[in-house]
Amino acid sequence: MDKIMEQSPACGGAVDLSATPLLSVEDLHVEFSAAAPIRAVRGAGFTVAAGETVALVGESGSGKSVSALALTRLVAAPGRITAGRVMFDGQDLARLPQAELVRLRGSAISYIFQEPATSLNPVFRAGYQVREALRLHRGRRGAGREMVEELFRLVGLADPRRCLRAYPHELSGGMQQRVMIAMALACRPRLLVADEPTTALDVTVQAQILALLARLQRELGMAVLLITHNLALVADVARRVNVMYAGRVVEAGKTGEVLRHPAHPYTCGLLAAVPRLRGDADELHGIPGSVPHPAHIPPGCSFHPRCPRAGPLCARVDPEPEYFEEGRMVRCHYWK
Ligand code: SF4
Repeated sequence: MDKIMEQSPACGGAVDLSATPLLSVEDLHVEFSAAAPIRAVRGAGFTVAAGETVALVGESGSGKSVSALALTRLVAAPGRITAGRVMFDGQDLARLPQAELVRLRGSAISYIFQEPATSLNPVFRAGYQVREALRLHRGRRGAGREMVEELFRLVGLADPRRCLRAYPHELSGGMQQRVMIAMALACRPRLLVADEPTTALDVTVQAQILALLARLQRELGMAVLLITHNLALVADVARRVNVMYAGRVVEAGKTGEVLRHPAHPYTCGLLAAVPRLRGDADELHGIPGSVPHPAHIPPGCSFHPRCPRAGPLCARVDPEPEYFEEGRMVRCHYWK
């Protein structure tokens, strides 16, 4: 927490925020059909500029990962996008023909997931799996063993030749995540979606992986969409942050400003829940209750059953987004 308040995020290098964003998600809705509609994402919107790092933050079940998967229509059936646009480099990915979308996945947009051990196939050697990713997008000639070795060197694997031949279970968690990063970077993506990329790793390895991602981002000039519940990580790496709750963005802005001067009670609750090293270090402040199930979103403001500031309007009227200062947005009747 102390670190969050002191840090001024500066990641993403020089970013032109006035230019058309590389990724622009507008009013995205994702539903899982059942007897009653399960609305996992309910009008989410955010942008990522070329070369920028942007975070989506919130508790489990807030719709972050489903939003990230929906970018390239990776949400498994019966989930589907029911409305909204996902503009990437001038194309609406929500409506792009499937064959074009498949070409785009793994080349222009890549993903790193939380659990490298479950993302890698246990029966194939690490080198083979990265070569397959290369071969899919570059053909056989662009997927040489030397290229994979070079990628392994780029992501800091100490003995690239040994790692080429290793099966996933012969690699540590940190090495497996580096292989996943190598696979994600194989085709030099313009956008890397990193979904809790360090959660399964110990603290030392987390720091190494984050430093690696920051270095690769600078060198390759790619944008990063970081999905996380870890505000300290957001403070370290993201230029802008979007706070998600119950399937939509409830607060957005530059990371330093949102974390220093949160406007939405949910953001305040998330910040209060971060353990402190100084002050009342013995006391942990949680947010009462839990994120609503997407099939049972409360009427009015979806946060009202948990909100310490709830007023007369909150249970009846869904707050509209309000914009203030440069790039700040909040959805709350009583944010002032
Ligand atoms: Fe809380 Fe009401 Fe604001 Fe919702 S609209 S966050 S319930 S004060």
